[in-house]
Amino acid sequence: MRNFLKMLAVATLLACTVFVQGQSGTPAKAESAKPDVRFSADMLDKDIDPCNDFYAYACSKWAAKNPVPADRPGWGRFDELQQRGEYIVRDILEKAAAGGASRGVSEQKIGDYYASCMDESAVEKAGAQPLQADFESIVKLKSKEDLPKEIVRLHREGNDVLFGFDSGSDFKNASQIIAEVDQGGLGLPDRDYYFKDDPKSDDLRKKYVEHVAKMFVLLGDDQAKAAAEAQVVMDIETGLAKGALDQTSRRDPKKIYHKLTDKELAALSPAFNWTVYFAGVGAPQFDSLNVVEPDFIKNMQQVIDAHSLDEWKTYLRWHTVHAGVALLPTAFVNENFDFFSKTMRGTKELRPRWKRCVAYTNNDLGDLVGQIYVQQTFGAEGKERTLAMVAALEKSLGDDIKNVPWMGADTKTQALVKLQAITNRIGYTDKWRDYSALQIVRGDALGNSQRSNQHDMQRRLNKIGKPLDKRDWPYPPMTVNASYNPLENNITFPAGILQPPFYDNQADDAMNFGGIGAVIGHELTHGFDDQGSQFDAEANLRDWWTANDKKQFEERTGCVKDQYASFVAVDDLKLNGKLTLGENTADNGGMRIAYMAMLNTFAGKEPAPVDGLSAEQRFFLGWANVWCQNRTDAYARMLVNLDPHSPGKNRVNGTVSNMPEFKEAYHCAATAPMVNQNACRVW
Ligand SMILES: [Zn+2]
Repeated sequence: MRNFLKMLAVATLLACTVFVQGQSGTPAKAESAKPDVRFSADMLDKDIDPCNDFYAYACSKWAAKNPVPADRPGWGRFDELQQRGEYIVRDILEKAAAGGASRGVSEQKIGDYYASCMDESAVEKAGAQPLQADFESIVKLKSKEDLPKEIVRLHREGNDVLFGFDSGSDFKNASQIIAEVDQGGLGLPDRDYYFKDDPKSDDLRKKYVEHVAKMFVLLGDDQAKAAAEAQVVMDIETGLAKGALDQTSRRDPKKIYHKLTDKELAALSPAFNWTVYFAGVGAPQFDSLNVVEPDFIKNMQQVIDAHSLDEWKTYLRWHTVHAGVALLPTAFVNENFDFFSKTMRGTKELRPRWKRCVAYTNNDLGDLVGQIYVQQTFGAEGKERTLAMVAALEKSLGDDIKNVPWMGADTKTQALVKLQAITNRIGYTDKWRDYSALQIVRGDALGNSQRSNQHDMQRRLNKIGKPLDKRDWPYPPMTVNASYNPLENNITFPAGILQPPFYDNQADDAMNFGGIGAVIGHELTHGFDDQGSQFDAEANLRDWWTANDKKQFEERTGCVKDQYASFVAVDDLKLNGKLTLGENTADNGGMRIAYMAMLNTFAGKEPAPVDGLSAEQRFFLGWANVWCQNRTDAYARMLVNLDPHSPGKNRVNGTVSNMPEFKEAYHCAATAPMVNQNACRVW
């Protein structure tokens, strides 16, 4: 199962999980297919002063009623909505799985994929056999010179060993797609996990090595051999991690764009035969590419040299079982769950099998499922009303850019050109992915997953050397998320998020502007945050700011950085102000322009209060309402390291405390906790 959102290119609204969660056969708890996701005034805790803690006022009752479910690391309003989608998709998949000879080609694929995944007894019976061909191929390696060929095979199955290879926009000529070699090959989520020296990180590494050893034991190795093999894996991964960039650095486009010729790449790591790799992997011919991080490739050469062929075989064998674990028997799934979900994220129980299979089918055949999903759920009206809202938000951002006091006329002109050029993608793609060459075989769960990965890798590699096709969406339409892509200068709002509590046909304008309106604003302002502002209207990495305006901008974003760096996420762990800067700037800017758009819509006519709450008060509740959430401590800790988004509480209280409009709406004292004495404002 490949994760379909790349960290670098797409700024999403919320964290996408990047690991396959563990598995097995815990029975599904009774849960509502249709939780009430609408806002109601009953949700408010009237004992809490909104000026003291607005998040608690809006969310504490929800939080008390919605503890983290045993099979999750966290639970929030997004998850409620996602869960509704899961039931809809399950229905689609069960029908497709049961269908007879009259099924269409799409139903056959999604139905058989899902049915194979659900067939636990067949998966148990097969054991690790589906990986046997992979293991045999690894065993047969005769020298390290054979590595490129073997890595081709594994990469094509979706197993990102040693490094990553993909297609992507040329940062400086963004209408063209080029090849991209990136860091990769780690089992832990990020390079920092290998080097942090606090006791918790130390402990986690120890448990990781134990986990790797246990997986080798499950493959049939004895304890002593497995322990030694696990140590080899840890050594190789630590070696690779040394050359890798951390998450914060990867937000800086200049640090992740190095266009080199294929010969220059070869010179960085002569021990690895790139010609063999590129010829085998299925990429069209090219003579230059983005070597995302040259230091990683240089370091990789040393790691290859430092380890014996047998050690490399151990490393490849580990990653093969790790990549396929989701569709292996329960013993593997449980062991994987134990480390990656229980230890790392604090999840108590495995998700029910059907939910995992829905997720895998969505991941591997998203556009086939998505076509049926939008037919069932998404009407033309939803698209029209969303587009009208986007237009209102774009107008506000334009007005805001024209009026901000700190930006000079030249930069403003360029900013407005960039705003005009943003493409809006709402609901679902105009060009569904073509799966006709992909074979889905009933009864071959793991093979289906591997073939899906091969098929998708080929799809992505076929883009190399071609112009960017803006109809390619990064995720399927049932996704509950939204994004701005600085390399395409577009926003994407899939059908999955265009529902209550984000957008509610039955709600008043104020709630909708505070919900989906602020989210649209959030994505639009990403085009102008610390990362997006480095790309121009054509999505090229080009500095279009005057030096003075840039300085003014950085002073203002510096305020946001320091403000959020003072927030505690869990225990004594504070947020990383730099990692979360883009998202926090987008939250603050998004709220600002959504508020402006709401007032424009009112055109001077103040709507009557609803439930005793003014429109202005309800606007802020619309925002708070989408961020109510609970997380385990372990998960909260993990996200501080990895997630560029702040936790819900900080997204709410951070933004409202910067807006004098909030102070007015709730009649807060100037000294109230929700009134930031040094309010930050960029947009
Ligand atoms: Zn964002």
